[in-house]
Amino acid sequence: MFTDKEKTIKIIENSIENSLTYANEGEVATYIPELANVNPKDFALSLVTVNGDEYKFGDYNKVFSIQSISKVISLIMALNDNSIDEVFEKVGTEPTKYKFSSLIPIDDMAANPFINAGAITTSSLIKGKDLDEKFNRVISKIKKLSNSNNITFLEEVYKSEMETTDINRSIAYYLRSKKIFSLDAEEVLDLYIRNCSIGMNSTELAHIGALLANGGKDLATNAEIISKDSVKIVLAQMASCGMYEESGSFLLEVGIPSKSGVSGAILGVVPGKCGIYVYSPRLDKSGNSVVGKKLLKILSNDLDLNIFL
Ligand code: GLN
Repeated sequence: MFTDKEKTIKIIENSIENSLTYANEGEVATYIPELANVNPKDFALSLVTVNGDEYKFGDYNKVFSIQSISKVISLIMALNDNSIDEVFEKVGTEPTKYKFSSLIPIDDMAANPFINAGAITTSSLIKGKDLDEKFNRVISKIKKLSNSNNITFLEEVYKSEMETTDINRSIAYYLRSKKIFSLDAEEVLDLYIRNCSIGMNSTELAHIGALLANGGKDLATNAEIISKDSVKIVLAQMASCGMYEESGSFLLEVGIPSKSGVSGAILGVVPGKCGIYVYSPRLDKSGNSVVGKKLLKILSNDLDLNIFL
């Protein structure tokens, strides 16, 4: 696989065509008003192999907010800034059948780092003297992980969510009341929403996937960018919790550790092989991209990417 470039491109093009037959199913997220302004027809796929080869299709230069894909970054940073025990004293590791925005706690803490309550928790574990310093650290980290200097902050998306995010605000105050953190709840919420509002294109995100697929080592120099322990934890959590309440069925059908976001993106990581990023904004009831899920399923089969086979 990936040895014959022409053949790989043909397989991917064919998979895209098949997945786009579902392009009219599902709805674009509207609960963050700014997200309703996207073109539902937008589509991008970037696949980056551990050798650094890039396969790019559709609107791969288009920048969109990363939304819940930021939960992967927050977990990486929380693990970087604290011990593993310190992180998992504050957030669980179990999948949940409740929606990503659910307030329902498990043992007074979030079920896992990949639902909102979990990522608000990992955001509280990111170190820095103030909010700006913490957010600047997140941006610098993303630049390093994606090997790109073009990472932007989508102010309109941020403002739009800050004005409407009563649920996440409630979650932040709830977690604070349970002593999950003692920082100002508004500041923790702010960092979480800023992280969701980071703008990136699909190739930059596929690079982060490829880095994780490469065991956290830089694709060109092999220098360690993410520790092995963190890579193991992040991929295990992506496999078990990355697709919200559909995580089990997705793993069963697709067999690729993945993380989705309500902007319509899914990041998949195939250890030892590649990172894949699909963007298509129409979502199913769980908040996962309809075309994204279909495409990853087809690609898993056609490019032999299922981690269990
Ligand atoms: N910013 C979004 C929220 O908190 C992220 C959720 C998501 O992508 N699933 O609701």
